[in-house]
Amino acid sequence: MHEVNVGGHNYLLDCGQYQGRRQEARERNANLPFNAASISAMALSHAHIDHSGNLPTLVKSGFKGPIYTTPATVDLCVPMLADSAHIQEMDAMFLNKRRNRRRLLDADNRDLEVKPIYTTQDAEAVYPLFRSVPLHTPTEMAPGLRYTTFDAGHMLGSTAILLEADDNGKPVRLGFSGDVGRAGLPIINDPETLPPVDYLILESTYGDRLHQDLGPVKHKLAEIVNRTANRGGKIIVPAFAVGRTQQLVLLMHELVKDDAIPNIPIYVDSPLAVKVTEVFRKHGDLWDKDTAALGLSGADPFRFSRLRYITDVQESKALNDIRSPFMVISASGMCEAGRILHHLRNNIENPRNTVLITGFQAEHTLGRKIVNKQSEVPIFGEPIRLRAEVAKLNELSGHADQRELIEWIKPLVGTLKKVFLVHGELPAQTVLAKAITERYGIAVEIPERGQAFDL
Ligand SMILES: [Zn+2]
Repeated sequence: MHEVNVGGHNYLLDCGQYQGRRQEARERNANLPFNAASISAMALSHAHIDHSGNLPTLVKSGFKGPIYTTPATVDLCVPMLADSAHIQEMDAMFLNKRRNRRRLLDADNRDLEVKPIYTTQDAEAVYPLFRSVPLHTPTEMAPGLRYTTFDAGHMLGSTAILLEADDNGKPVRLGFSGDVGRAGLPIINDPETLPPVDYLILESTYGDRLHQDLGPVKHKLAEIVNRTANRGGKIIVPAFAVGRTQQLVLLMHELVKDDAIPNIPIYVDSPLAVKVTEVFRKHGDLWDKDTAALGLSGADPFRFSRLRYITDVQESKALNDIRSPFMVISASGMCEAGRILHHLRNNIENPRNTVLITGFQAEHTLGRKIVNKQSEVPIFGEPIRLRAEVAKLNELSGHADQRELIEWIKPLVGTLKKVFLVHGELPAQTVLAKAITERYGIAVEIPERGQAFDL
């Protein structure tokens, strides 16, 4: 979240859910660090939950203004926020049940009852506030504040945002990168750069890393599938229901067509992923030319004979009884909630199986513990031995690496006065800040949470 003050009015850029240690995350997500009713309008860069996931709390806390974003982001946010609300509700129910069992929750102790951070109704109150604006369409967010978006190439509908403010005849151009994607990602178009800006708020997720080329990703995926299937194992893939799941489906579709993997069933076990895949189909106008070509050839890029989408809980549980190799793609992407937890619990003790990590895993999440190959990981509060192979496909990352971030800001260097690094861990930010200053001689700030700057 970034609060922007122009001419005495407050605006907000993104309103994501904080992910990290459970208790800290609950507290940070439930309590906004500003007065929600004082925000006049907001702009949302893209639909990922770490950018959109706390909109229901914002609205519940008194925000009534418009939420500017792209049409695809609106379509994605509806099922995503509903799903997130459902997770909050289930989470609270689970915690209350556990407290009940421990007799902590009696008549005198009602205040110990855990309430969901937000409910389905809170999420539904967000939808009427969306104002969808296509890319490249300058729009007055408020008198003296213009909003224009550019394709961030990070996920379907993702944007980098240009805010142009006229503060008493003093024009200021503020860029917000949202999440910067990468050239050559499956399905979506490559990132566009912003027009000239004076200041830039820049993400820094992979500010200290260099990705491998996208080229061999299909080959690597095929190797992992072949290796695991040959030893009779299953491939468990935690993946964000939005974006990563559709990329994996498309790659598996191509591998099946190329006859590069054995004939094993592939399940997408996530009701959210099923709804989101529909949104991907609907927005064919945002596909890159390869995906569009597959669509034009008459094949649905997101459907093939070995692939099954599962929504029903019983069907999901039935996967536990299958003895032969298969792949299951399920959410959540950082293994913090959802059906993936059951699949992990049932499969990671078997060394024949593989957990395939396909995205960034935040500190303190179960996903991070698995990537770090801890010998034991907690699932549903129980320690489970991790003996399965842990494989990684970093290539699919939707985030630019250090080199790509530095290239992305190159066209802005002529006008840029300062860069603010956000959305990253401190070591990555420190390395990126140094790299930007060395390359372009631009001042870089790594803001503390709550720090304010005069532009
Ligand atoms: Zn994102």
